[in-house]
Amino acid sequence: MTSRTRIQLLSPRLANQIAAGEVVERPSSVIKELLENSLDSGARRIDVDVEQGGVKLLRVRDDGCGIAAEDLSLALARHATSKIRDLQDLERVMSLGFRGEALASIGSVSRLILTSRTVDASEAWQVESEGREMEARVQPAAHPIGTSVEVRDLFFNTPARRKFLRTEKTEFDHLQEIIRRLALAHFDVAFHLRHNGKVVLGLHEANDEGGRARRVGAVCGPAFLEQALPIDVERNGLRLWGWIGLPTFSRSQTDLQYFYVNGRAVRDKLVAHAVRQAYRDVLFNGRHPTFVLFFEVDPAAVDVNVHPTKHEVRFRDSRMVHDFLYGMLNRALADVRPGDPVRLED
Ligand code: ADP
Ligand code: MG
Repeated sequence: MTSRTRIQLLSPRLANQIAAGEVVERPSSVIKELLENSLDSGARRIDVDVEQGGVKLLRVRDDGCGIAAEDLSLALARHATSKIRDLQDLERVMSLGFRGEALASIGSVSRLILTSRTVDASEAWQVESEGREMEARVQPAAHPIGTSVEVRDLFFNTPARRKFLRTEKTEFDHLQEIIRRLALAHFDVAFHLRHNGKVVLGLHEANDEGGRARRVGAVCGPAFLEQALPIDVERNGLRLWGWIGLPTFSRSQTDLQYFYVNGRAVRDKLVAHAVRQAYRDVLFNGRHPTFVLFFEVDPAAVDVNVHPTKHEVRFRDSRMVHDFLYGMLNRALADVRPGDPVRLED
């Protein structure tokens, strides 16, 4: 047996670094947290600047509600959130975040600078996380209304974690995918992405059908849009709308599959099964369907906050959801099924 050592409280910084192990895996996980914060803040435009796949620099700037000077250092503290106050809030939380962990975790494994200005503040304020035990100093800064979070040198102080980072291209691909996925769920927000100073993505606010289709084309490629059926069906309070790729536009991977439940990206076995079934007769073995689908259901009938990083959901009536999805997709695809024996004429 090893000799007994006294029990001690972990320092806040170490506690945050341990928590970071769960939420901050790579640059794309940082981007996800920062974008979700911007979306929660009511931003209409989000600008993302990335250098070296996000390992050197990640900067997210938004025009949202901002953070008051007196709350700035608290924003970097663990378990500090403006989004819920009690258990009741937790049960009907609508924001993307609410755990109050992201900024504290990210700040403990990077050099983070948070700059923000609220509508009623005459100037902006700034805090830095690096090397401090979280009693950050608040300083005046220049910034329009909204918030910027700058994250430099991710994992500079956790070499073991840094070792797991892949090439710049791989990290950037992951990061881009996160932005695309979120951009499809928030048509009314403009997204701009630059990598090493080059514009990679410029998505304008899309408020009508044409704008939404354009965004889908920009995110999924024009070929998808040309070979996809628009769909919009509603039954028993369940609605399914979006675009489903024709069988001619299948893929060898599941990389062009976007499914949202009440606006949140979801990867779910039940959903995947329903879609697979609907495409069963029209796709060759080993081919995968393509789709951008939005499923809307009474929020009380679904739990989307099962796990902070996994995209799981729990439906109250999963059988009904499965049958609805399968039924609607199957019917939409019936018209394009080659050699379909039943052709209804009316
Ligand atoms: P959570 O999002 O779970 O509340 P975070 O650590 O991500 O926790 O953020 C902590 C708090 O900082 C948020 O609750 C919010 O009040 C504030 N905050 C973070 N990012 C922004 C932003 N871009 N705009 C406005 N407020 C923000
Ligand atoms: Mg958050």
